Amino acid sequence: MPLRRPLVLALCATLLLSGCGLLPGSSDGTPRQHLRQALDDVRSAVQKQIDDAVAKAKAQQSGDTGTVDRQGSPQVDAIRTDTNTAFDYAEYTKTLQGVLTSLETYWSTALPGQLGAPFSAPKRYSYYRPEDGPGPTCGGEPAPAKNAFYCPSGDFIAWDETGLLIPYYVQAGDFAAAFVLAHEFGHAMQARLPKKEAPGILSELQADCFAGSWARAVQDQGALSAGDLDEATLAVFSARDVPGTKFTDPQAHGSGFERTRAFSDGYEGGPKACYPAPAQEWLVGQTAP
Ligand SMILES: [Zn+2]
Repeated sequence: MPLRRPLVLALCATLLLSGCGLLPGSSDGTPRQHLRQALDDVRSAVQKQIDDAVAKAKAQQSGDTGTVDRQGSPQVDAIRTDTNTAFDYAEYTKTLQGVLTSLETYWSTALPGQLGAPFSAPKRYSYYRPEDGPGPTCGGEPAPAKNAFYCPSGDFIAWDETGLLIPYYVQAGDFAAAFVLAHEFGHAMQARLPKKEAPGILSELQADCFAGSWARAVQDQGALSAGDLDEATLAVFSARDVPGTKFTDPQAHGSGFERTRAFSDGYEGGPKACYPAPAQEWLVGQTAP
């Protein structure tokens, strides 16, 4: 699916504002002034789309939490929903159902076949809207806003719908939202494997790698269109750590480079390229623990 223009512009805006030095400079600052105005316009246009989508979602589905069921049979076509039309909550939900079904189908074969571990699906998939009420707790911890997570003790996947998944879906595309689910599903698969990485960068990169291996399977089924992998890559990249984050930080997810590399390794090499986590290759320029 083609990338939506606002995202491309927003991404450029981020790069420019982070001081990469691509701007034509001027001593009186006039070009920068114009650019800033343009960037503000882009930002508010994207934000407005997201706000509209969130408002529509709330109008179509009441309640602050809910669950998304898998579909009865694999529907990989459901991932292909980029229509460049106004946000449609039913279509969004159908996409998530298709992604979850595809993930279950893929891992039900890949986990035993490639990694020798028995497969079982996560117990449930839940969404929440922090502004309207608390999400599901995990081990006594509240569900975080603007995030998604896999809860090992409850064996479920949950995500902030209005603060994370709908914005990703609207701004970056349906496969960016799919990547979030695939990454969390990767954590669920980790829980079923004997060798576990400690929470932190290796376990996060392994989840990215598992997401990449699933993306390849979807690609091989012909269910991706041009731009989908870029959407996943942008989702990976937008969630990178700030430079300077120590790899020993349990909150670390990896740099943009490390994360895109792990995703690509899974895409190229399948689950065996992800497990056990190849620390020496993934932790670029860092001493592996
Ligand atoms: Zn993660």
